Amino acid sequence: MAKVKKKIKSIKIDLDKCNGCRACEVACSAFHAKPKYSSNNPARSRIRLIRDPLRDVYLPVYAGEYTKAECSGRDKYVMDGKEYNECDFCRASCPSRDLFKEPDSGLPLKCDMCEDDPPLEKPLCVQWCLNDALVYEEREEEVEEEVKPEEVEVGLESMVDKYGLQKVMDTVARMAKKE
Ligand code: SF4
Ligand code: SF4
Repeated sequence: MAKVKKKIKSIKIDLDKCNGCRACEVACSAFHAKPKYSSNNPARSRIRLIRDPLRDVYLPVYAGEYTKAECSGRDKYVMDGKEYNECDFCRASCPSRDLFKEPDSGLPLKCDMCEDDPPLEKPLCVQWCLNDALVYEEREEEVEEEVKPEEVEVGLESMVDKYGLQKVMDTVARMAKKE
């Protein structure tokens, strides 16, 4: 398979600098509101804060892949004497918790790095993090050429899981007729 150069975007998270202000959640949910910036609701954000002020735990987590089944094994982390819960570091939109699900439809949310046209200089959560806990970085990597439109497939797969194949097919057929 042919190799192509791909721009890799990443966000470095400095837990020591995060004070749990949740500005990143507000900014992300406002950016993804329809119309843009018309509302904000952290439950719609693609970054969520695991927060426990009494234990001084502030952990920003980005929404990653959708997963159909919860995992059977869980991991516990202890860092600097603080114990984190089993699912705290997980980025998945998973059936065992409400995190990273659109609150109205239940469909999975995933960080898209604020893809926009024209592109933003930095993702919005990074811009709004006044404590510099989130640092945006870009680099180039050689990867195998992508052949499948992953995002569309994941969206369809999760809709089929939630509503059933027949219902999704009926809806698509109805939409096709309207056009
Ligand atoms: S990079 Fe953009 S889409 Fe991702 S969590 Fe930050 S604001 Fe949301
Ligand atoms: S905006 Fe920055 S400091 Fe505030 S909660 Fe988000 S990551 Fe933490």
